[in-house]
Amino acid sequence: RLILGLESSCDDTAAAVVQIDDEGRGTVLSSVVAGQTALHADFGGVVPEIAARAHAEKLDHCVEDALAEASVPLSQIDAIAVTAGPGLIGGVVSGVMCAKGLSAATGKPLYGVNHLAGHALTPRLTDNVPYPYLMLLVSGGHCQFLLVRGPESFDRLGGTIDDAPGEAFDKVARLLGLPQPGGPAIERCAETGDPNRFALPRPLLDRDGCDMSFSGLKTAVLRTRDKCVADAGGLTRQDQADLAAGFQAAVVEVLAKKTRRAFASYPADAPRGLCVAGGVAANKPIRAALEAVAAEEDAAFIAPPLALCTDNAAMIAFAAAEQSGLRSADDLTLSARPRWPLDTARPSMLGSGK
Ligand code: ATP
Ligand code: FE
Repeated sequence: RLILGLESSCDDTAAAVVQIDDEGRGTVLSSVVAGQTALHADFGGVVPEIAARAHAEKLDHCVEDALAEASVPLSQIDAIAVTAGPGLIGGVVSGVMCAKGLSAATGKPLYGVNHLAGHALTPRLTDNVPYPYLMLLVSGGHCQFLLVRGPESFDRLGGTIDDAPGEAFDKVARLLGLPQPGGPAIERCAETGDPNRFALPRPLLDRDGCDMSFSGLKTAVLRTRDKCVADAGGLTRQDQADLAAGFQAAVVEVLAKKTRRAFASYPADAPRGLCVAGGVAANKPIRAALEAVAAEEDAAFIAPPLALCTDNAAMIAFAAAEQSGLRSADDLTLSARPRWPLDTARPSMLGSGK
C-alpha cells in the first residue's frame, strides 16, 4: 500500500509518500519539508496568519514534489493521511482541505491523524519498536511523556506545565545574544562553560509525577544575566558559556530525573523501550543522559533520525497506516481541531471539532 501524508500544523509544510508492506512495516519513499523560518524571522515567533497563507500556497507544490520524488503518480496512491490537529488552526485547515480535495478527486480513503500520534508512532516506522514503549516528546512546542500502548492508545504520564524546553532554549539564546535556533547555539556555547558557576533552579524536580516546568529556569537565567551586566557592565564570553552550560545542565537533570520517574508507570513484564522525538532530542548531553537512564532501567534506547524526529509528513502517513487496522477511514466531514489531546476521540467523531 502507498500512503500520501500531509502536514501543516505549525511552521513546516510537508508531504510524503510511505510504502507499507504486508507486515505493516513502512518505508519512506519521499519526505518533503518546506520550512517557513525565514518568513517569521522578524517577528520572534510563528505568526499564525503568515503561516496559514504559506501553507495554502505551498501544499500543492509539496504534494507534487513528494509524488515526483517517490516516482509514484497520484493515481497509484491508496490512501490520503493528513494532520487534523492539534496546531495552528489556519495551517491545519489548509492541510485538511487539501487532503479532502485529493480524496474527493481520487476516491481514495482519507485519514485525519493527530500530530502528536504521528511523533509518538515514529519509532515503529524507523525501528519497528514493539508496543508498549515509553516516549519522551521534546520539541519547540511540546514536552510530554507518553506510554504508547498501541496505535490509538496513549497514556499521558506528565509534561511541561508552561514552556517547552525548545522554547526555553530559544529564549535563553536570545537573552545571551546567541543566534536562533537557540538549541544548537546553546549546545555549542556550553562546551566551554562551567555548569556550576551559577546556581540555577530545577523547578518541580522533587515533585511527584512527571510534570515539568521550564519558565522559572528561563527567568533565573534572565536575572543572572542582568546581574552580570550590572556588576561588570556587560556579558563576557565566559559568562555566556557558563550561563549556557548551567541552563543546559538544569534541563538535562530535570529530563533525566522525570524520565526515571516515568519508568515507574511501565507495565511489568513488557519489553522495555525508551524513545525520544522532537528537535531538542538532537542535543548531545540530553541524549546521553536519557541513554544512561534507559541503560539503568534495562530499556532499549531509540532516537529516530532527526529528519523524522522533527515535523514531517512521513510520520503522518505511517500513523494512518498503523491506525487503519483499528478504525474506518474518515469522510469529508473531517474537521480541523486546534486542540486535540492524544487521549481523546478523533475529530470526525466529535462533529464540530470544538
Ligand atoms: P513542534 O514540533 O512541537 O510544533 P517545533 O517545530 O518548534 O515544535 P522541532 O522542529 O521539533 O519543534 O524542534 C525545534 C526546537 O528544537 C527548537 O526550539 C530548537 O531550539 C530545538 N533544538 C534543536 N536542536 C537543538 C539542540 N541541539 N539542543 C537543544 N535544542 C535544540
Ligand atoms: Fe511537531
